[in-house]
Amino acid sequence: MCHCEERSDAAKRKIETMLNLIFFGPPGVGKGTQAARVAKFYKLIHVSTGDILREEIRLKTDLGMKVKDVMARGELVSDDLLIELLENTCSKHKGAKGFVFDGFPRTLRQAEALDEMMNRQDCKVAKVIALEVPAEELLRRLVNRAIEQGRTDDTVEVIKNRLIIYRNYTQPLIEFYKKKGIFVGVPGVGTIEDVFASLCNVIDNRY
Ligand code: ADP
Repeated sequence: MCHCEERSDAAKRKIETMLNLIFFGPPGVGKGTQAARVAKFYKLIHVSTGDILREEIRLKTDLGMKVKDVMARGELVSDDLLIELLENTCSKHKGAKGFVFDGFPRTLRQAEALDEMMNRQDCKVAKVIALEVPAEELLRRLVNRAIEQGRTDDTVEVIKNRLIIYRNYTQPLIEFYKKKGIFVGVPGVGTIEDVFASLCNVIDNRY
């Protein structure tokens, strides 16, 4: 049965006007930078689960203490924690024009939980935008970032681990979103401005 027909007019309007995007891709691809710019430009809420978790660690909250070691190893924090974190974060922005999800979902379970959450709140994901960068460029960027930003979660061993985990757990989501017909790949090489322009074209359906 089509759920759309059961929705109220208000719900239908909301589903049409809200803009929810997922920024997808391996570590180092530039998701964070572009997600922040896109969110600012389209007046959407940028939800970076990595940033939220790092802030929890900095503030030494219970959650921060729980995830610290897992993150330091470059492994994934548990789905249950992430799903709860995401629901809490989104519920703080009830009237938002939309969200840019950056770093979430990273597993099939998270993707399904996001779908359920969207459905419950009469929303949908408009597009899953994957930034695409060749593997050797990715590694170069990650190593540079570790040096420049002193990100303690980015030693060479941890970087390799994060790439393997991406391949095993997150990459399979590409098929999940392709089947839904909302997956779009965008080249992530070029200046930040170039990539941003390509993203705007995709978001505005001009590609
Ligand atoms: P990057 O931008 O380099 O891909 P993030 O800043 O998004 O990395 O995330 C850093 C770390 O935070 C991850 O390696 C993982 O330990 C944890 N994390 C962030 N988002 C998730 C998620 N959706 N599921 C599980 N763990 C996550």
